[in-house]
Amino acid sequence: MGADLFYLRPKKLDDALKFLGDHGKETAIVAGGTDVMVNLRSGELKPKYLMDVSRLPELKGIEIKDGGLRIGAGVTISEIYTSPILTRLAPVLQKASYKFASKQIRNVATIGGNVAHCSPCGDMAPPLIIHEAKVVLKNSDGERTIPIQDVPTEPYRSSIDPEEMVVCFILKPNENVFSDFQKIGRRKELAISRASMAVMAEKDVEGKIKFMRLALGSCTPTPQRSTDVENLLIGKVPSETLLWEAGQMVVNKMIETSGIRSSTVYKERAVQGLFMRTLFSLVKHE
Ligand SMILES: Cc1cc2nc3c(=O)[nH]c(=O)nc-3n(C[C@H](O)[C@H](O)[C@H](O)COP(=O)(O)OP(=O)(O)OC[C@H]3O[C@@H](n4cnc5c(N)ncnc54)[C@H](O)[C@@H]3O)c2cc1C
Repeated sequence: MGADLFYLRPKKLDDALKFLGDHGKETAIVAGGTDVMVNLRSGELKPKYLMDVSRLPELKGIEIKDGGLRIGAGVTISEIYTSPILTRLAPVLQKASYKFASKQIRNVATIGGNVAHCSPCGDMAPPLIIHEAKVVLKNSDGERTIPIQDVPTEPYRSSIDPEEMVVCFILKPNENVFSDFQKIGRRKELAISRASMAVMAEKDVEGKIKFMRLALGSCTPTPQRSTDVENLLIGKVPSETLLWEAGQMVVNKMIETSGIRSSTVYKERAVQGLFMRTLFSLVKHE
């Protein structure tokens, strides 16, 4: 890190936004620092200012507001994991938090940092996608709201302007339907996802799937919602055969988007297996 790196920690969101308005292009926002510090040390990131937003009260809190579930950008992964509101209304996000990095990292890493970093492997994206999350961005002039899928433009590149900050996420709460998150990594702990999946689904009285949202992480340049697969499964009684067919569709989509790579032989099988693991409990056993 260069000697001419200036550190600041504004006490209020307005002060932070004012500073970004004047110096956004030369500033790196730091929340938990678990991505920023790595990039600073590698020399990939060379800002003039390091603006610490970890103590801004406006970025904190998990609450129900106007029927939506509001999660502040500065909420840590550990806070997500222990939140009673999320146990009730977004259990899939908690499951992803439990499988995230290690306890030390979870205690400082934030949901806002995870989304803004735009890693294709970020574990928060698939659960946020199936909750149809909106991202609230602010600058010194006002705010705008965009869908979560519109944040990454390509791996590690975002549509967030240098003068803007992510303030919070607004999620559609889970109305008591089945949901799950699964990921595959190289190890059980401290493993970046090689493939991840989040699902929310509900069956009708006849056992047909009447509602489903499915999202895939780490398999495409940016995390994706799999509407083709949702459309294939909605209106049908899920059977093992049908799930294999749907899993193959996920695999085909992955190859179509990312092309054939050296990891494809492994990923084809891994993603098919992950899909079965995530959705198999929907299959009705007589
Ligand atoms: C050992 C290790 C293991 C890891 N394991 C996992 C894992 O299992 N799963 C996973 O998904 N990730 C993992 N990560 C990556 C990292 O921990 C996460 O991406 C984390 O959530 C980033 O949050 P942060 O608060 O530390 O972000 P920071 O490092 O502070 O910031 C990350 C990026 O977001 C920007 N940013 C932060 N807050 C805001 C804001 N409010 N508005 C606008 N921009 C903002 C920063 O400028 C920066 O570009 C791991 C990292 C390490 C070092």
